[in-house]
Amino acid sequence: MKKIGILGSTGSIGTQTLDIVRNNPADLSVTALAAGSNINLLEAQIREFRPQYAAMWNEEAANELRIKVADTPVKILSGMAGLIEVSTVPEIEMLVTAIVGMIGLRPTIEAIKAGKDIALANKETLVTAGHLIMPLVKKKGIKFLPVDSEHSAIFQSLASAKHDTIKQIILTASGGPFRGKSAHELAGQTKADALRHPNWTMGQKITIDSATLVNKGLEVIEAYWLFGVTAEQIKVIIHPQSIIHSMVEFIDRGIMAQLGTPDMKLPIQYALFYPERKPLQGESVDFLAAKALTFEEPDLDTFKGLPLAFSALAAGGSMPCVYNAANEKAVSLFLEEKIGFLQIYELIAGGMAKHKVILNPSVEDILAAELETYNYINEKLMRKV
Ligand code: NAD
Ligand code: MG
Repeated sequence: MKKIGILGSTGSIGTQTLDIVRNNPADLSVTALAAGSNINLLEAQIREFRPQYAAMWNEEAANELRIKVADTPVKILSGMAGLIEVSTVPEIEMLVTAIVGMIGLRPTIEAIKAGKDIALANKETLVTAGHLIMPLVKKKGIKFLPVDSEHSAIFQSLASAKHDTIKQIILTASGGPFRGKSAHELAGQTKADALRHPNWTMGQKITIDSATLVNKGLEVIEAYWLFGVTAEQIKVIIHPQSIIHSMVEFIDRGIMAQLGTPDMKLPIQYALFYPERKPLQGESVDFLAAKALTFEEPDLDTFKGLPLAFSALAAGGSMPCVYNAANEKAVSLFLEEKIGFLQIYELIAGGMAKHKVILNPSVEDILAAELETYNYINEKLMRKV
């Protein structure tokens, strides 16, 4: 029986993780849950999964929840201290980081320090602090398993391959809802348009990131840290059917790929049970119905989210944090319908242009770079009004 904690249990990855727990009651149990502000869903999860600890980001929501679940033995926590406690309690073996954004940074680092295995969905954390996290993972000897479908595919394709036999990683991208559109056409896209992803149902932030290709940019940086390859060894190709989840080419030109229907339950379950495989209900790939798997070059002039990520990676240090922080802020403004779609790129590029890189930043430096980026965006938008 593996005891797990889940940061972001009420979200898309969080609820799918709980579906897997529900289907494997003899193998998995939930000891700790954390969410932002969805009191009703967290209450239902507490009643069903009986965790010992649950945290809400919002203090008032935590107080309300405490009253609602007073008839159960669960301990309710709140704020950053609550997230960190949930991530480090002695009882859990593995933490599923399914929270959205770089707010997951401190809890993830503390969990690794406490010797917890990590199933990482929260890519923003690795993007901003890969240089701190990967050495810590090594030092602590914990398992650090990707949940992101592409990275799970790469991880599965690598199997027991020797690191120096990797020629390149081929990261596939669906292209999102705006594939094939011009910059002119992108300018008029609304929140509702951007939220209409062709293949995947996900949280709002990552769905917008898929439309801008910032998600693929974050995934390039995520792959850089997870697999210890150079930026030149990571190639992104558009594969609109989302059946090949990514590939690895080896030095002898042999290529290994992982394929499947677009269903996050597979990479989540693979991380939960690694190195075992377990049965999973659902549809198999129907190659005869799919007929063709196609590939395209990404349009880097239009979808600037991807080239900006390569620039951030080349600049190194605190720059990937600025790329990520500017995007987080810009996406939340886009979701509030305060800026247009193309302004997301302008704000990321502007934030990066203004930032002076700190090499090898500490957690404090990273959080300061995040704040500096938010301030830059707030000031820039105020000047416009
Ligand atoms: P989501 O918006 O559906 O869920 C986010 C979760 O985080 C919610 O439970 C929310 O309550 C919680 N949360 C947000 N802010 C919080 C805070 N301050 N304190 C505590 N909890 C907080 O997002 P999602 O789509 O599930 O994505 C989660 C992460 O997984 C992201 O980093 C995303 O990039 C990554 N990811 C998601 C998918 C997917 O299919 N959804 C695929 C690959 C990677
Ligand atoms: Mg992905």
